[in-house]
Amino acid sequence: MPVSAPPIRDGALLVHDGRISAVGPLAEIGRDNPGVEVRYFPRCTMVPGAVNAHAHLGFRRDNAPEGGSFSRWIAELIQRLPERDTWLAEAARSSAREAVEAGTTFLVDSSPYGDCLPYLAGSGLAGIVFAEFFPFQFASPEEAVASIEARVLDLRRDLPSRVGVEVSVHAPYTIDPESSRLAARGARERGERLATHLSESPEEYEFVTNGTGILADVFARFTQADWEGKGVSPVRYAQSIGLLWPGTIAAHLATGVSEGDIEILARTGVAATHCPRSNEYLGCGVSPVPEMLARGIRVGAWTDGLWSSPSINLFEETLFAVNLHGLDGETGLTLATLYGARALGVEGDTGNLEVGKWADFAVIEAVPDESGRSPEMEILEAAAGGGVAATAVGGVLIYNRFGL
Ligand SMILES: [Zn+2]
Repeated sequence: MPVSAPPIRDGALLVHDGRISAVGPLAEIGRDNPGVEVRYFPRCTMVPGAVNAHAHLGFRRDNAPEGGSFSRWIAELIQRLPERDTWLAEAARSSAREAVEAGTTFLVDSSPYGDCLPYLAGSGLAGIVFAEFFPFQFASPEEAVASIEARVLDLRRDLPSRVGVEVSVHAPYTIDPESSRLAARGARERGERLATHLSESPEEYEFVTNGTGILADVFARFTQADWEGKGVSPVRYAQSIGLLWPGTIAAHLATGVSEGDIEILARTGVAATHCPRSNEYLGCGVSPVPEMLARGIRVGAWTDGLWSSPSINLFEETLFAVNLHGLDGETGLTLATLYGARALGVEGDTGNLEVGKWADFAVIEAVPDESGRSPEMEILEAAAGGGVAATAVGGVLIYNRFGL
């Protein structure tokens, strides 16, 4: 199931130097390439690997802060951040492994100062770590931004070739406007991407607009600066400080995203990442995904971290989104793969099974029957339900239940 082209029965991929050099029926590819090593995955379907457009590897499944409301959850999370140091390595390693075993091939992590980078780099996955920074630890916004930019350069040394590091502006309630603006300007001038959380919760909307609520306390604690309500939505606020351009990946967009906001997102070319299970867990509303897709906004799917989401299985997350928004199976499978790559600007390299792209694929233990149901939906359901049998990144099998 190449995603960009119709399914191929008894299909095959030819891999050369990690990239796909042919896609088609096995009989044809075999005939044209005698003598190549062949791996068979009988009674399976190959799909592009899942592209998880934003996760937090550094949280674990046990003992998550209670859900129900974003404010209660974020307050407990901040209070408990110090304990994270004691289990970060174990949590990040196991989150990355869970993603691999769920058919993910490209994963984006956001973590404080990029502290999850070693675990993404050691997982065999391709991906990006967005390094978050917290300006209150510095004397000025200029110093904070210079410091995170220097750290990113430092982190880039000795990385696997398909793992990158870039800067994140965490959220409106943790980063002051000037630090946000400077970080965004720098990333834009360098032609890089920028990850941010935007319009996630009712509390964020209240904070940005009126300057009130629990996030006003969080902001004061994080920035030691004053904040007055801006009288506009988080999306408009982000636009006003230069945070929105095609390199921006805005996560969540779950609460209070108006038609006017969608217009701004479309006009500025921002990509959106959709995380419906986290939004539900934290009482954050429903992101207007069909409307954003209809306006041509690049939308990818993501799982968030294990403190707000039940798994790092992107296919499972996508199936939830499909049911939530009434999307068809084809759109769902594309959302999990090619749309994610497009949101991140890596669609020239990955996201579907096409000649020239990296051989990033998942092998699902299922073959669509002839029942007339959507074959993509069948495969999505199988992948969501633990049916991933193997995962390959750049043609290298980093997970293989068959042990071939
Ligand atoms: Zn997040």
